Amino acid sequence: MAYNDQNIFAKILRGDIPCDKVYENDYALAFRDIAPQTPVHVLVIPKGPYVSYVEFSEQASDAELAGFMRAVGAVAAELGIAEAGSRILSNQGEDGNQEVPHFHLHMLAGKNLGRMIKPIDE
Ligand code: AMP
Repeated sequence: MAYNDQNIFAKILRGDIPCDKVYENDYALAFRDIAPQTPVHVLVIPKGPYVSYVEFSEQASDAELAGFMRAVGAVAAELGIAEAGSRILSNQGEDGNQEVPHFHLHMLAGKNLGRMIKPIDE
């Protein structure tokens, strides 16, 4: 899928619209989700133009991959969520119900998050 630089996260990266920033390094930006689904809900996005985790994994440089994952750890430390527990997830494509076509990890914490997803036989 071709990257569209008019998506909302591209606009945040360019500074065209504001965000509630939590952390930033050379390769990633983390900010609070505008419609939090848990008491702590932060999005981590790479600064490069990648639609999803698939493109990011396939096309990003080693420095981008490392810088992004280091940012995830730094956000967990910044938020102090590791001890009580947290969850990261990334929606991708149609079945994943991805809404914003710029790769992002959701970092969820601040309460017991229950089971991962509804099991297929329920
Ligand atoms: P996804 O379905 O994984 O693509 O989720 C996109 C997420 O982006 C949703 O949780 C939205 O609430 C969040 N979101 C959309 N616009 C903004 C924004 N301007 N600032 C922060 N979060 C946003």
